Amino acid sequence: MRRPEYDVVVVGGGHAGSEAAAAAARMGARTLLITMSLEAIGRMSCNPAIGGIGKGQIAREIDALGGLMGRATDESGLQFRMLNRSKGPAVWSPRAQCDRFMYAGAVRRMLEAEPNLFMRADMAVDLLTEGTQIAGVVTQLGVEIRSRAVILTSGTFMNGQIHIGDTSYGGGRMGEGASKGLTGALHRLGFESGRLKTGTPPRLDGRTIDYARLEEQLGDSEPSPFSFMTEQLPARQLSCWITFTDPEVHDILRTGFDRSPMFVGRIQGTGPRYCPSIEDKIDRFADKERHQIFLEPEGWHTDEVYVNGFSTSLPEEVQMEAMRRVTGLENVHMLRPGYAIEYDYFPPYQLRYSLETKAVEGLFFAGQINGTTGYEEAGAQGLIAGTNAALYVRGQEQLVLKRSEAYIGVLIDDLVAKGTDEPYRMFTSRAEHRMMLRQDNADERLTPIGHRLGLVSDDRIRRMERRRAARRDLLSSVRQTSITPEVANPYLASLDSAPVKQTDRIAKVALRPEVHLGTLLRKTGHDGLIPSIDGLERVEDMVEIDLKYEGYVERERGLIEKMEQLESMPLPSALDYASIQNITMEAREKLSRIRPQNLGQASRISGVSPSDVSVLMVMVKSGRVPRVEE
Ligand SMILES: Cc1cc2nc3c(=O)[nH]c(=O)nc-3n(C[C@H](O)[C@H](O)[C@H](O)COP(=O)(O)OP(=O)(O)OC[C@H]3O[C@@H](n4cnc5c(N)ncnc54)[C@H](O)[C@@H]3O)c2cc1C
Repeated sequence: MRRPEYDVVVVGGGHAGSEAAAAAARMGARTLLITMSLEAIGRMSCNPAIGGIGKGQIAREIDALGGLMGRATDESGLQFRMLNRSKGPAVWSPRAQCDRFMYAGAVRRMLEAEPNLFMRADMAVDLLTEGTQIAGVVTQLGVEIRSRAVILTSGTFMNGQIHIGDTSYGGGRMGEGASKGLTGALHRLGFESGRLKTGTPPRLDGRTIDYARLEEQLGDSEPSPFSFMTEQLPARQLSCWITFTDPEVHDILRTGFDRSPMFVGRIQGTGPRYCPSIEDKIDRFADKERHQIFLEPEGWHTDEVYVNGFSTSLPEEVQMEAMRRVTGLENVHMLRPGYAIEYDYFPPYQLRYSLETKAVEGLFFAGQINGTTGYEEAGAQGLIAGTNAALYVRGQEQLVLKRSEAYIGVLIDDLVAKGTDEPYRMFTSRAEHRMMLRQDNADERLTPIGHRLGLVSDDRIRRMERRRAARRDLLSSVRQTSITPEVANPYLASLDSAPVKQTDRIAKVALRPEVHLGTLLRKTGHDGLIPSIDGLERVEDMVEIDLKYEGYVERERGLIEKMEQLESMPLPSALDYASIQNITMEAREKLSRIRPQNLGQASRISGVSPSDVSVLMVMVKSGRVPRVEE
């Protein structure tokens, strides 16, 4: 049976797949999204929360490039918080707890609004190739679907194996089957795969939680949106709740260690270092008397509660007994136990920066299949793979974001240049240019790129331009407008800040760390300087960052220029690293395996030292580069 041809076929309707399909279709590619269950499109496998440290920045970047995640989050958010507010703005990170049903519904609706996008409920089990090029997929129903590009976004589903205590069975996520066939197809094409694992906590019936005994965590009183296009956020927010484990809870959990699939060696895959299970935490930090637990609502119209911090694959009865010793959970009813899942992934050094595979032209990978963990990391890769698949079909140059342009650039560079053998998640500390890559300026950094490529509407780019102009106007106004001591000092006194002795520019007073520019302007009758803009972003907050962090930004610009020199020195793909005697053995081995595209990428591979880079630089400059015999 033959089907009409598509430009792009996306396999998987999770976070990577949805963004990939939407991006490719928006760029004009006739796109088919094949996913095992249409009802599961946009489903959040774990906590229904978007953002957090490093991840919030990625979600804002996805939005700035016209992606779905920010809008779906704003529409479904139950609680919004800006994390790290007490630190510098480089690391402010938005986070929202969402209604999981509304989130998935919003994603599905946005996909259905794309005229070039078609969907099909089916499972891809094999790949079609012609020579070194992809030619389509074969599905479980025996249908050959031919396309010019294919994007695989199979998440935790490929040969997924679920573990709870002694019980273990095949599955891609609780209640959904594993995906079979693709791993073998990829092996036959010469790809290497590995095994990773992740886990999730139990879900509780909120009607059986004693909230009076818990600490309440409120959302921000002035919530910040994820999307630059959002005009309004929900008027009401729900609270999250905090409780703790204690030594008694730990003792109960220990009684299940001899049946823990992790400790008895039934789970072979490596788990996420930064999101350890509760059994891992009490085992590794045995002297720690308690661990924090956040009880987070899963929706507006459900009592289901997510137990953040209590991911586990211990036997169900041990989970239950331990849970009931936690303050506030004494009579709790568990809706479903926590579990761990192992799945196949494909180490990402097998990819180009475009997320196209090196081995098969037109075949792209995005999301958890590349060894990442998290919705934001997956969505970002999906957006880039979808964009590049559409560009590939048109025969146009691929989109590669630099590390200095976006966290998405950092993410993909880390994956491709270094590979990963454990689930990779984003942190602000991974970005060396984080002062430039702030969540507040994601639109100025990326919306013009998205517009050029056809990902972003004219309306969105115009809004960004108006906002950028408003920012520049306010910056110049506060630099020019003076404020007298009589006007400034009452506000400064309210902050215990030393009075000013003479008339000074507003910009200078605003440099004091304790002064908030917006409040200064409002309290001193200068609010007329604040331009009005569309949406919920605050120009005064952006200008405050411009003023206070000008020096850091300048310094980062200098570093970026230096790095760009290295990036502009390409390394031939046939370079014979093994024959270079004066670099280290480790560098020879890693460079031969990863085959960096330029010196910048080579310099970031762990194990390649600055002196190795100098050797390569001299070689490239002299033009005497040893090549592998072809
Ligand atoms: C139990 C569990 C715990 C997790 N814990 C965390 C956590 O603590 N922190 C965190 O950040 N992230 C966690 N995650 C990861 C997070 O859910 C993923 O990173 C994210 O969903 C990955 O997005 P994705 O689009 O790559 O894949 P997924 O969201 O897994 O989506 C994959 C999609 O592909 C479809 N599919 C797969 N194979 C095929 C095929 N052959 N044919 C057709 N369709 C196919 C599936 O039906 C599904 O729709 C957890 C995931 C699970 C399952």
